[in-house]
Amino acid sequence: MSDNLDFNEFHRLLAIVQSIDVGVVLIDREYRIQVWNTFMENRSGRQPNEVHQQSIFSVFPELEENWFRHKVESVVTLGTPAFTIWEQRPYLVRFKNYQPITGQEEFMYQNTTILPVLSTNSSIEHICLIIYDVTEVAVNKQQLQGANLQLKQLARTDRLTGLNNRGYWEECLAHEYARHRRYQSNAALVMFDIDHFKKVNDTYGHPAGDKVIQAVAEVIREQVRDTDYAGRYGGEEFVILLPDIDSAGARVFAERLRQGIAALVVSHEEQRISFTVSLGVADLSLPMDEHKQLIERADQALYASKKGGRNQTNVYSG
Ligand code: GH3
Ligand code: MG
Ligand code: MG
Repeated sequence: MSDNLDFNEFHRLLAIVQSIDVGVVLIDREYRIQVWNTFMENRSGRQPNEVHQQSIFSVFPELEENWFRHKVESVVTLGTPAFTIWEQRPYLVRFKNYQPITGQEEFMYQNTTILPVLSTNSSIEHICLIIYDVTEVAVNKQQLQGANLQLKQLARTDRLTGLNNRGYWEECLAHEYARHRRYQSNAALVMFDIDHFKKVNDTYGHPAGDKVIQAVAEVIREQVRDTDYAGRYGGEEFVILLPDIDSAGARVFAERLRQGIAALVVSHEEQRISFTVSLGVADLSLPMDEHKQLIERADQALYASKKGGRNQTNVYSG
């Protein structure tokens, strides 16, 4: 207890401090604990007499000493409070979380205020830490953010294959088209369609057809790079946008894809299903007005592959 604080006055204040549901810790300029309210006692399991005159750094080894000293010294120098918020620093001191509703969290999220405390001679000889338990708010906010992220992901994803759905893929294409135009770089589009897919459905049933579509998506996933954009464009039609690649490079990629798919055998109820795809390639090297033209050109090349006998790749040549 500092000599500068009147003991009785201090205890009157303490009665208030004890009953509030926030942590209150008073430290002196040597970072020794002077006041420790009931909240602190309950959450830490340590009695006030155990921590009195102890360095706050020895009571809370998790408290980053350099950072905290810097923070406190600026509070003293400026004479104004400082704050920490859970979004930036989940907690100042690590307490277990006991809240029943938020039981899945291991620790208590905290907002804190670091207050300069003026003594009677107007100098700052104590610092008050106020610790707010914001676990509930933090958990709710994080759950909401998580749910929003999932929702966004779901809205972009094709259910059957897990690839980008058509809407989102087209957004990506528009974005990439603008980017490549700006930097005058190339990009290529590979579009393909499963050959005689109606026959797969008719012969083996719709669920078998679904399995085939999923197997194709798996081959795509194995062969694309992280920077490529693969999507399910229609029922059994797929698109892959390859940034910074020209038609020739995309053709090599398309052929590898074609061969990978032709080698695939999909098992369904004792049946073994083989199939092929026809592919079309187009890139940005020829003039065009908008991104939709790239799709049209790849589609034209794809049509040429169908006409040419299927199970092949054609490149749009104008
Ligand atoms: P082609 O070689 O000319 O492409 O012949 P195709 O039989 O593949 O031609 P078409 O495009 O007419 O047939 C596509 C079929 O794909 C028709 C449709 O019933 C089926 N289909 C579309 N979406 C799905 C799906 O999600 N699952 C299954 N199983 N079938 C689908
Ligand atoms: Mg089709
Ligand atoms: Mg087809």
